[in-house]
Amino acid sequence: MTVTGGRVRTAAWSAYLIAGVLVTALYYVVVSLGLNAIISVTLYCLVSASSAVAVLVSTARGRTAPRAPWLFVGVSQLVYAAADSVFYVSHFVLGSTTFPGLADVLYLSHYPFIVVGLIVLIRLRNPGGDVQGVLDAAMLVVVAGTLSWLYLIGPNARADTPGVTKLASVAYPILDLAMLSVSLLLILGRGRRPVSFSFLSANLVAFFAADSIYVFQQLAGTYQVGNFLDAIWLSGNLALGAAALHPTAKQVSDRAPASDHRLGAGRIIALLTAALVAPLILLVQYGRGELRDIPVVAVACAVLFMLIITRLGGLVIQHRQLAITDGLTGLYTRRFFETQLPLELARARRGGHRLTVLIVDVDRFKAINDRYGHPAGDRVLVEVVARLREVTRSGDVLARYGGEEFALLAPGIGPEELHAIAERLRETTRSAPVRISEELSVPVTVSVGAAVFPLHGATPLELVTTADRALYTAKQSGRDRVVAADVLDPSALAGHGGDGASGREASLAYLRTVADEVDGWTSTAGHGGAVGRWAGLVCAELGHDEGTARRAEVAGRLRDIGKLFVPRRIWAKPGNLAEDELRLVRAHPEHGFHLLRVIPGMLELASVVRQHHERHDGSGYPAGLSGGGIRVEARVVAVCDAWAAMLAGRPHRPAVEPGLARAELVRGSGTRFDPAVVAAFLRLYDDGLIGDLRHPANTAPSPAS
Ligand code: GH3
Ligand code: MG
Ligand code: MG
Repeated sequence: MTVTGGRVRTAAWSAYLIAGVLVTALYYVVVSLGLNAIISVTLYCLVSASSAVAVLVSTARGRTAPRAPWLFVGVSQLVYAAADSVFYVSHFVLGSTTFPGLADVLYLSHYPFIVVGLIVLIRLRNPGGDVQGVLDAAMLVVVAGTLSWLYLIGPNARADTPGVTKLASVAYPILDLAMLSVSLLLILGRGRRPVSFSFLSANLVAFFAADSIYVFQQLAGTYQVGNFLDAIWLSGNLALGAAALHPTAKQVSDRAPASDHRLGAGRIIALLTAALVAPLILLVQYGRGELRDIPVVAVACAVLFMLIITRLGGLVIQHRQLAITDGLTGLYTRRFFETQLPLELARARRGGHRLTVLIVDVDRFKAINDRYGHPAGDRVLVEVVARLREVTRSGDVLARYGGEEFALLAPGIGPEELHAIAERLRETTRSAPVRISEELSVPVTVSVGAAVFPLHGATPLELVTTADRALYTAKQSGRDRVVAADVLDPSALAGHGGDGASGREASLAYLRTVADEVDGWTSTAGHGGAVGRWAGLVCAELGHDEGTARRAEVAGRLRDIGKLFVPRRIWAKPGNLAEDELRLVRAHPEHGFHLLRVIPGMLELASVVRQHHERHDGSGYPAGLSGGGIRVEARVVAVCDAWAAMLAGRPHRPAVEPGLARAELVRGSGTRFDPAVVAAFLRLYDDGLIGDLRHPANTAPSPAS
């Protein structure tokens, strides 16, 4: 039934086009042979009326649903066809050349209908508006408006003609511009472009082109009834009829998909060409020695510049959005999650509230891929995400953490509420099998691991690692379940197992507060937290394992703890230090090393602290190590520390702007700093992920004493 219906409709639009082309050809034969005018008039009006009939009949039969926009378009075409009949009858049959006449009244009154019809269509396709499309259309309209003013509206307005004639000649190009504006909004706006849409666009472009040339020829006195313009008008009519008859007419008013904005090569070329028109006009006028309407062209240039800059600004914002959005699921990326976690942690710390990290992993997902294929796996992921989203609140950060692994950051949620949320995540996923196709649905379950700040960790790494371990336990104990960190083996929580672990964590926590305090001597605020966090992220960016990143993070925080043994008066001293004072200062990495190495299992960390003033080219201290001889964590901490010092300033040195600090890092790359580390740091900095001292995310407030 549908198939037959489809075939009938397909036949209708193509039969209509073929018949239309034949009638058009016949029209030109009749005109060129100078046969009876009544025949040519009849043929012409047959075509223009046929498209009105095609639109109205198709709309009445519900083939263009919703009806409203097409009804306006159909009525507009009906008025247009009536205008054609009056014009050609009065011209050919009655021999009248009055301008403006009844035909012009009709022609002019078709514009409001088509404009309203197109606006309704645009609203249906883009109910939320479409800034980028509006900007693109505006650029082309500004150019068309300028040209129209220079060559159509202006000359007509200045012409020595009676008032009514002038009014009509000016009304045409102005209304054409209005129609062009909405046409471009439709054509350049977001949304699907099925065949019917292309026919409709062709109709709009054809009418605009022919109307403009018509006004121009009228002005130049070269217009002749029956010239090539009739072919453009008639084709435009046929395109409109075909648009309404084509089976895709229903899709023209479909809502645009969310992620539909491409700035393709064609559009860039069109916009570029358009932008060049105004300056080109000036050059041509200058060459001819007749500069006219300069204010109009100047304003057009200014408006175009503004539109272009606004358009570029929009693209930058859009790209920033894309950088933190996962392509398949539309969730935040892992990168974004990792920048939010320290910020939320700092907020929780300040506000004294809880923060929960949940990691959700789809169970036996590989099997779904293997059995039903990768695209089916993708569909499952998209559906799982839709279900997970239902459970989250505004303010939660739900991110795609890995292939089939998601992380949820829930501020204000503690151990009491955690289970309810995690269970809801699990329940909603398994509530019904995921439909992959008409015949195929697959049951899906997830396992969830959870950790709460401050109960199970104080840093981003600790929280994520703990939640990950809980997830592992959930998988081990049969999947489709929730495990919160509480029920884990406490020794696993501390990181390494064994009795010393919790004692070690306690020592580290104490040393962190001491290090923050020491930091406060040399800079206005303790930046160790920031240095540590950046160092961890840079190590991860460089592809090092979690242990290395963690070591860099802790070493970044504790790097200057050895300054405890340097007399405090030195730190407050402005100007250059004396030789012996400098020697005291330069001993701080060594002091830090000896302080940390006494804690069991901290030898590696202590070595990093010892090396954080070594330089890539061997000119650093205390050992004069160079290149790969320096531990990578120390090379990373050196760069992050230098950055923080430059941005914050020191008692003897003012703070510098990020641009200058950047140049300084680049200058030191290869001599003072490891080039790979500098490159990784600047990559993260340029992405806005690290480097901002205003958010010392990990910095705990220093104790009062
Ligand atoms: P477990 O229950 O232990 O988590 O088993 P699993 O099979 O879910 O875990 P595993 O980590 O072995 O497999 C995850 C699979 O997810 C492997 C990878 O091919 C697949 N995957 C990762 N990203 C995507 C994606 O974007 N689309 C699809 N279809 N598959 C993905
Ligand atoms: Mg899995
Ligand atoms: Mg996995």
